[in-house]
Amino acid sequence: MKLQHHTAFSLVISGILFMIFKSWGIAIASFVSGVFIDLDHVADYIREYGWSLNIKKFFRVFHNGCFNKVILLLHGWEWLLLWTALAWFTSWNLWITGILIGLTQHLILDTYYNAPTPLTYSIVWRMRRGFDLFATFQGKPFKHLRTA
Ligand SMILES: [Zn+2]
Repeated sequence: MKLQHHTAFSLVISGILFMIFKSWGIAIASFVSGVFIDLDHVADYIREYGWSLNIKKFFRVFHNGCFNKVILLLHGWEWLLLWTALAWFTSWNLWITGILIGLTQHLILDTYYNAPTPLTYSIVWRMRRGFDLFATFQGKPFKHLRTA
């Protein structure tokens, strides 16, 4: 799913959360985590292409899946377990719950649009496949690259 779609969806979710809880905290936390989880793509880009970050090249690389490996450190169901435990231990603090909601909706959307299986967004599952792009995403959403 593209950044603009995550931004739009996160805005809607945050608006709904604000209407329900009358809290800027949960709304902001949900929006920020729902969008900026994708910053781990920058880390993958730097790992494969070095520090010469060119925004235009970054988005071309990102959208065409020009990676050998995809670590995606923040894209992991494992983080949701941690944030759920943290939310529970803090009696569902609105900031922490907002982060949990933002991460959850982002991973669900990425799974639906990008992943061949929900396991793709398990860090452990990807690690067991060496973080290889095609072993983890099995070509989806980069099927057009296989025929090239
Ligand atoms: Zn994502």
